Amino acid sequence: LTRIVIVGFQSAGLTAAAAARLYNREAEITVVERRTYATYHPCGLPFVLGGEVPNIRDLVETTPRLPGVNVRLGVEAKAIDTQEKMLEVQDLRTLQVEKIPYDRLILATGSQALKPPIPGIDLGNVFCLRTVEDGQRILAALSRSRRAVVVGAGPIGVEAASALRERGLEVVLVEMQPAVLPGMLDPDMAAGVAERLAKAGIRVLCSKAVKELRGEGEVSSVVLEGEEIPADLVIMAIGVKPDVELAVKAGLKLGPTRMIAVDDHLRTSDPDIFAIGDCAEARCLITGRPLRSQLATTAIRMGRVAGVNAAGGDEVFEGVLNAVVTMASGLEVASVGLTATAASEAGFETSTARVRCLTKPHYFPGAGPMTIKLVAERKGQRILGGQVIGDGAAGRANLLALAIRKGMTAKELSQIDYCYAPPVSDSIEPLVVAAEALLRRR
Ligand SMILES: Cc1cc2nc3c(=O)[nH]c(=O)nc-3n(C[C@H](O)[C@H](O)[C@H](O)COP(=O)(O)OP(=O)(O)OC[C@H]3O[C@@H](n4cnc5c(N)ncnc54)[C@H](O)[C@@H]3O)c2cc1C
Repeated sequence: LTRIVIVGFQSAGLTAAAAARLYNREAEITVVERRTYATYHPCGLPFVLGGEVPNIRDLVETTPRLPGVNVRLGVEAKAIDTQEKMLEVQDLRTLQVEKIPYDRLILATGSQALKPPIPGIDLGNVFCLRTVEDGQRILAALSRSRRAVVVGAGPIGVEAASALRERGLEVVLVEMQPAVLPGMLDPDMAAGVAERLAKAGIRVLCSKAVKELRGEGEVSSVVLEGEEIPADLVIMAIGVKPDVELAVKAGLKLGPTRMIAVDDHLRTSDPDIFAIGDCAEARCLITGRPLRSQLATTAIRMGRVAGVNAAGGDEVFEGVLNAVVTMASGLEVASVGLTATAASEAGFETSTARVRCLTKPHYFPGAGPMTIKLVAERKGQRILGGQVIGDGAAGRANLLALAIRKGMTAKELSQIDYCYAPPVSDSIEPLVVAAEALLRRR
C-alpha cells in the first residue's frame, strides 16, 4: 500500500491527486491545504473585476469528489522529516499538530504575489490579484475609486487594467520594460497591443519603474521617475514568487531560477518527494534551460506526471513551450515558444516574418485584422516561436505548439491542411501566409 501525501490543493495538487487515484486504486492519498475552502480559479479573477463573471463565488469549487482521496482543508504543512518520512501539519482552527507518514510526498505549494519593498506598499487600497480574498477586496474598493494605477503589464496586469477600464475607472498601466507583455511578445508586436489599450482609454507608460506610493492611510498617488500619478486604487501585478519555504527547510535543492529543482520525472533532490506547479522549476523544450513557467496549464501537466509517478508509474515531463493567451481590452493575444528576443538571448541565429491578414474574408461581417510573427532558426528554418494577435489567436498558438514540439520547419508549416468556411476563417490560413513569408526570407 503506497501512502501519498500532497501539499496544496490547487491546479497542480488537485490534478496530481486525481492522476494518482486513477493510476493506483489501492494508494492511500491525503491532501493538505491551508485554505479553508476548496480549489478556486485565479485565472478568472480579472474577469470578475471587469464584470464578465458576475459573481466571484463562481470561481470557487465545492471540494471536487475524488473517491478515496482525503482532502483536509484548513491544514498547513509545517515541516518535512525526510529521514522518518513524516509530514508535520497543523490544523489552523484547533492549532493541533500531528505527523502524517508518507511513502511519496508531492509539494504543490504554488506561489504568492510579489510585493516590491517600496515605500507606501502597505497603504490602504494597494492590492495584489492572486486570491479570492484579493478579488473581494478590490471589488469592495471599486465603488469608491475613480483613478487606478496597475503596475506590471504582463498578462495579469493587462487583464486587470482592461477590467478596471471596463468598469469606467481612469486607468494608467505602468511597465518597467520598454513594451507591454514583455515575456510574451517582441516589441514590434507589443506596439499593436499598447495601441489597443490606449484606444480603450488606458494610459500606457513603459520603461518606467515605480519608486514610491504616497498617501495618508490610503494611497493617493504613485511616484515614477519624473512623474507623480494620482490614484485611489493600485494593483501590483509584477509577478509571483514560488512558495519554496517548506522545501528549503527540508534541505531540498533549488535550481538556478530559485524554484524547487526537479528531474524529468518531477522528483526533487529527495527521490521520494516530487514538486509541481508554480513552486517547481520547468525546462524549456527548445533550449533545454530551466525556466519559471508559472502557468495553470503547466501546473496541470506537471500534476498528471507526478501523480502517476508517485503512485508507482514511470512518466516523463519533457518540458514546456509556455503557450499563453490573454485578452487586452477585447484583443486576443497569444504566444508560444521563443520570441525573437528570447531566441537571440539563447544564442540562436533567427529569421522572422510578420504578416497581417484577415480573420475572415473581407466581404464577411465581423472580419478583423490578425497579425502573426513567426520566429525560426535561420539555418533550416525550424520554427522556434510564434506570436498571434486577433480573434482565433489561441487556436493558432496551440497549432504552433504542436509544430514546435514536432520540430517542424517553415516549409512543413506552409504545407499543413487547414479548414475554411467564410463565417469562420479566410481561404488561406494566416499561419500558412506567415510560413510562406518566412520561406521568402531565406
Ligand atoms: C489573476 C491570475 C490570472 C491567471 N491567469 C492565468 C491564465 O489565464 N492561464 C494560465 O495558464 N495561468 C494563469 N494564471 C496562473 C495560474 O493561476 C497558476 O499558474 C496556478 O494557479 C498554479 O497552480 P499551483 O497549484 O501550482 O499553485 P497555487 O495556485 O499557488 O496553489 C498552491 C496551493 O498550495 C497551498 N499551500 C502552500 N503552502 C502550503 C502549506 N505549507 N500547507 C498547506 N497548503 C499550502 C496554497 O494555499 C495554495 O492553495 C493566473 C494567475 C493569476 C493570479
